[in-house]
Amino acid sequence: MIDVIIIGAGYGGMSAAALLANAGKRVLVLDAASVIGGRAHTFRDDEGFMWEYGAHSHRLREKGIANEVFKRLGEEIEFIPESGDAKLIFKDQLWDRPEGPLRFLTTPMLSFTARITLIRLMLKLKKAEAAKWYDKTLIDFYHTWFSNVEVEQFLSFIGMTIMCPDPYKVSAGEVIDFMQRFFAARIGVGEPVGGSAQLFGKLKKFVEKNGEIHLDEKVTEILHENGQIKGVATQLSNYQATKVIFAARLPLLFEVADKKMFPENIVSYSNSIENSSGLSIDFVTDRPVTDIKGSLLGVDIPIWAKFQSNSDNSFTPAGTFLSTWGIMLPWGFNGEQAIVDQTENRLKRLIAKLFPDILSHLVKERKLVVPVMNANVLTPRQSKPHRPSVTSETLSGLFFVGDTVQGDGCSGDISFSSAMKAVDIILG
Ligand SMILES: Cc1cc2nc3c(=O)[nH]c(=O)nc-3n(C[C@H](O)[C@H](O)[C@H](O)COP(=O)(O)OP(=O)(O)OC[C@H]3O[C@@H](n4cnc5c(N)ncnc54)[C@H](O)[C@@H]3O)c2cc1C
Repeated sequence: MIDVIIIGAGYGGMSAAALLANAGKRVLVLDAASVIGGRAHTFRDDEGFMWEYGAHSHRLREKGIANEVFKRLGEEIEFIPESGDAKLIFKDQLWDRPEGPLRFLTTPMLSFTARITLIRLMLKLKKAEAAKWYDKTLIDFYHTWFSNVEVEQFLSFIGMTIMCPDPYKVSAGEVIDFMQRFFAARIGVGEPVGGSAQLFGKLKKFVEKNGEIHLDEKVTEILHENGQIKGVATQLSNYQATKVIFAARLPLLFEVADKKMFPENIVSYSNSIENSSGLSIDFVTDRPVTDIKGSLLGVDIPIWAKFQSNSDNSFTPAGTFLSTWGIMLPWGFNGEQAIVDQTENRLKRLIAKLFPDILSHLVKERKLVVPVMNANVLTPRQSKPHRPSVTSETLSGLFFVGDTVQGDGCSGDISFSSAMKAVDIILG
């Protein structure tokens, strides 16, 4: 007998399944894809290269939301040790990333007046009440006290920490929430040893202790009767259970359940969710092009990058070196090739300036256009208080998990957090 069926084997679904299985519930995870991991999946090819679906890091490392899932399981994510040499990219140059807010006082990136304004802004963010600012943007927050134009350019970096670099778009409440957790943790991002494969390897072990994972099995319908969940139908079989977790993006819900079963506000929210899109490029070179181990984050151009091989040689066969670069595609991107080409050229022009050896020593390149990166951009409308809850109001036994529902944090953290919330409710 199955206690809980989980639709989707991404961060959210696998976390929920592992936590439930570990608590003694019998679980069945179903995923339409042929690999575990959803938008964070990885695979190793025949030549020995480990490919991730874009570089994935975890905010606040050991103190972050992702690691909380593993702590609940009695484990920890093994992170690559902090290198202390993370960089920022600003005005086409590399700068040492100030470690901690006070270090911004001495950074040569900004004028003295701007640095003072930036520190004052950080203090305001530290003291503000997130709940009062979810419906306002970061620029609203900034202009309440400040007008320094130089710092205004820097706001995109603050937004970028939660993957919404546009200060006119990002919810001030979400920024405050993240910055306060960051100030309390006093720790940046961490990369798991071996990438996301490490996380999924661990989660899979727990799921398989008390359940099964079926890949290549798409759920076609969520079954219910008189408002109570009965199970799911797939293209291969029907499975019965009184609890189902839908652990995929909310807009996909209506492929497996009739819209009429849900309140109008959930349907309209789901149908108009704004997501972010990205272009991710892996560059393999035949020599190391830098010894930087930390991550790189763009201040004025929304870029993130890491040189995996400098700190973890498990990604590539001996004698080859990998760096992964991501750049956001414009809001509302809907597949236009001209936009991809422009964005790729912009990224490569910058790389040619910063690390010319990457392009001249290239032996392999993999380009990924990612139409849905973060399924939920943290705008005021899509900020935490406005996202649907993890429990269905209309179908008893149905739960929602993933980065489009009411979890804490941003990006994948919302998936990890919503998984813990749903599991807490299911376990009572
Ligand atoms: C390039 C890139 C870089 C990123 N970087 C970071 C980062 O550094 N840090 C971070 O925290 N986040 C990052 N993210 C975001 C993060 O990857 C996502 O937020 C997270 O993976 C979402 O997980 P999820 O489980 O909610 O959903 P998904 O990963 O989308 O998983 C949903 C699963 O459901 C399955 N599914 C859907 N419909 C059905 C159906 N009908 N039947 C069966 N299966 C179904 C899908 O196949 C999929 O496997 C990044 C994303 C991308 C794309």
